[in-house]
Amino acid sequence: MQVKKGLFLLLALAFVSCQLSLESPTLLRAFNQPASSDEVIRFSQRAASSSDVLSIETFGKSESGIPLVAIKASAPVHNNENPLRVLIFAQQHGNEQSGKEAALLLLSDLAKGKHHHWLENMELWIVPQLNPDGSDVNQRRNAGGIDLNRDHIVQLAPETRALHALFRREMHHVTIDIHEYQPFRESWEEFGAYKTFDVQLGVPTNPNVSTEIRSFALDQALPVVEEHLNSKGFSFNHYIVGPVPTQGRTRHSTVDFDDGRQSFAILGTIAFIYEGINGRDGFVENLERRTYGQYEALLAMLEFLHSNSKKATMISENARQQLIHQQPGDKVAIRLEHFPDGNPLLLPLSSARTGADTLVVVQNYHPLVKPTLEVIRPQAYLVPRNDSLLKDFLLLHNIKVTESFEIIDNPVTAYHIDEIKMSEDEELPNRFPEITPKQAERQNLTENYVYVTVSQLHSNFLVSLFEPQSMLGLAQRPGFEYLLEEGTIFPVLRVESRE
Ligand SMILES: [Zn+2]
Repeated sequence: MQVKKGLFLLLALAFVSCQLSLESPTLLRAFNQPASSDEVIRFSQRAASSSDVLSIETFGKSESGIPLVAIKASAPVHNNENPLRVLIFAQQHGNEQSGKEAALLLLSDLAKGKHHHWLENMELWIVPQLNPDGSDVNQRRNAGGIDLNRDHIVQLAPETRALHALFRREMHHVTIDIHEYQPFRESWEEFGAYKTFDVQLGVPTNPNVSTEIRSFALDQALPVVEEHLNSKGFSFNHYIVGPVPTQGRTRHSTVDFDDGRQSFAILGTIAFIYEGINGRDGFVENLERRTYGQYEALLAMLEFLHSNSKKATMISENARQQLIHQQPGDKVAIRLEHFPDGNPLLLPLSSARTGADTLVVVQNYHPLVKPTLEVIRPQAYLVPRNDSLLKDFLLLHNIKVTESFEIIDNPVTAYHIDEIKMSEDEELPNRFPEITPKQAERQNLTENYVYVTVSQLHSNFLVSLFEPQSMLGLAQRPGFEYLLEEGTIFPVLRVESRE
């Protein structure tokens, strides 16, 4: 009898510890310390090995050599041949801990058998931590000093390169990039009120991103997440950036696509950015609530995507087909500005002194994005064969390049860079050259250049990057400044469509 009782106790203990091990390490210690990179990996492995819907892979390494893991959740046998593929990635910024914690809660749920109805028509990819080096010392940048969320074009960091390689392999239809914003800055304290939204949600804003994607994200997904968060007692806001309202304008994020939202959106992806509230210490303060805010926002989005999986798949795939079959001749925006829509923004804030709710009327509100300069989309760009940086860049992005080509009667334009002036857009300086278009020398084009058609997934990406006057151009980015030099011909030429 004694032996039986002991055995039972042992089994019960084993059962409990097995159950416990499927809880995230941070939850087990009551959120008094976020998960270390080592714990993220070990917990992800444990979750994956305990469930037949989960599998884990190492898709790269951080600057210091820590494995970057992705966990895939999919039904063992898919009812749906083309499931909606969703990529969630957290903690590009190491001092923003709650996204990773929410991703671990989600993994824990999936390992315990929750939310498996999602897998009827979705395949989830979860990257709980993109910047383990930064996270372990609670710093924004990676170990090489790179801000990963400004590195999605040039991709100097191994972390961003690995993420985009994973994306290119799987071609996810939806991406969710999880961050935190820092409300407790001195300027806001002096202003007298803070933003204390539990979660802000941002959507693509660059007009070169498909209209259907922008409208689906903003008009359909965003209200669903807002309603769910409110019902769970969390506050929500459509993501805004800007200084305190008396010191400058308020707008909805940036138009650039070097970040984890728009870099995917410009390739036909329904892309979101989550911005949960950070703690006053930027680390552990309020971590439990911060985590659950992000977690509930994820649950709401995934439930919404599950209910709208066919539509979301179609919107992304149509956008990609349009890019792949894009013809020359239409206009593409290369310089953009944010404009007011005539209405002030009513911004609910919290008093810095008492914490009481306070409504601030923001007059300097610029919610609209409009082009200020457009170019006609060419048929192709010609990129110098002897420029190894440009050729590596094309290779890195898997951009389609034709080595052997012939140009019979299409005009070819070369830009002379007359003078380089400075411009400030989105409160950041960039170079704005004055140019004179010329007919390019036609001999030896085939010998000296490779041909890069605009009829490809990267169509809008290419125009934005290869136009010398583009405020988002490659010439504005680290390592490619040499492309713009006064008194020279811009190295990339345009093949115009035939008249
Ligand atoms: Zn961030």
